[in-house]
Parts: sequence; structure tokens; C-alpha cells
Amino acid sequence: MPGPVIGVFGGAFAPFHNGHLRLAIEARDQLGLDRVHLIPTAQPPHRRGSAVAGATRLAWIEAAIQGEVGLIADDCELRRQGLSYTYHTVEALRARYPDQPLLLMIGADAFAQLHTWHRWQALLSLAHLLVCARPGAALLPSAQTQGFLASRRARAADELRAQNSGLWMSFDLPLLQISSTRIRQLLRHDRSVRALVPDVILNTLSADDRAALIADQS
Ligand code: ATP
Repeated sequence: MPGPVIGVFGGAFAPFHNGHLRLAIEARDQLGLDRVHLIPTAQPPHRRGSAVAGATRLAWIEAAIQGEVGLIADDCELRRQGLSYTYHTVEALRARYPDQPLLLMIGADAFAQLHTWHRWQALLSLAHLLVCARPGAALLPSAQTQGFLASRRARAADELRAQNSGLWMSFDLPLLQISSTRIRQLLRHDRSVRALVPDVILNTLSADDRAALIADQS
């Protein structure tokens, strides 16, 4: 019998914002996830790496999740050499949790590009996919993935608990119109980002962190 479900949520997190935090919390609470690994990317294959040091982005996550049961700041991609392929990250987590359902959480914007991911079909043999609603992005498989995904859609969390991998499910959460891109733009114009970024991050943001975010073109 599969054990509790483990969530896997990766991103540049430059910066980690309240949209990210709510997504992790809503998934944990609505789907009864045992834990959610929050994983900052080192060198993403499809976009430029962040100008903000990985250790800083990890520290932001650690600060933001203080007191939230089950949320884990995970530096596994930062410790790895080379491009940060999600496939390898999930493979490593699968080795760590051989008998539990893994749920890879991706935004609807990322889902639309799934066919460009390294070994995207094999990824489904390691984990389920949870496709999370995001303002402005339709929650549909791309034409290239439709055939493969058609018979693999779960409609309820119970189905995700009943097997360790192989399914995808859409996940509706109250939408927060927040993106790291907009936060960096506001910082460039010397505007406030209060209530978009957790206070604990904002209140400890150094001049260097701010400069790195402003320089970030990822
Ligand atoms: P950028 O604007 O630089 O692309 P981002 O805000 O999308 O940044 P990422 O670190 O790229 O942040 O996001 C990691 C994951 O979080 C992505 O899968 C993305 O879809 C999801 N995500 C980001 N913001 C939100 C949000 N407000 N609501 C739901 N999902 C989100």
C-alpha cells in the first residue's frame, strides 16, 4: 500500500513569493500531502540561471516556511553539477522515497511546455504531475502531450494516493496574481513589493540581494 504523498515543487524562486508559498500550502492542505520539497533550480535548461546565488534563494525559502509543518527547503539541485533537469531531481527523490507517491507540482505555464522537458514521458513513470492553475495560463496539455496524457488523467486525490506515479491531475487554488518577474520589475523602479513577498524575506533583504534581483534576467 503506497505511503503518504510527497510533493515536489521546483522553481527559480528569484524571489520566492507569496504565490509560491500559497501553492505549497494549498497543495499540502487540500491534498493531504505529507511533505512538500521546495527546490531552487541551479542551472535550468530552458532559461538563464538566476543572478541571485542559490544559497540566498534557499535561505529565502527557509525563512518563509518557518513554522509550516511539512514544507522543506531542499538544496538537491544546488548541490548537483550541470543542468538542473527535473527528471534527475525526481529520480533522486524516487530513490529516497521508493514506496511513496511522488507529486511533481508544476504551474500551468510550465505544463504548456512539458513536451520540451528532458524525458517528460519517463518522468511520469517516476511521479505524478500536479498541474496548478496560474493566472493567464490555460490548464490544458499541449498538442504534443495530449495523446500520451489522455488516458492518464486523475480526477481526485484518492487516485494519486492509490499508485506511486503515472497520473496527472489539475489543481485549482485561489489565484494570486504574483510573479517573480513583476517583483523584479517593481524593484527596478524602486517600488514596494510588500505583500507580494513574505515579510520575513523583505525585512531582511540586503542591498546586495536587491541588486542581484534587479540584475536578474532569468
Ligand atoms: P518568473 O516570473 O521569473 O517566471 P515565477 O513567478 O513564475 O517567476 P518560478 O520560480 O519560475 O516563479 O516558479 C516556479 C513555479 O511556481 C512555476 O511552475 C510557476 O508556474 C509557479 N508559480 C509561480 N507563481 C505562481 C502563482 N502566483 N500562482 C501559482 N503558481 C505559481
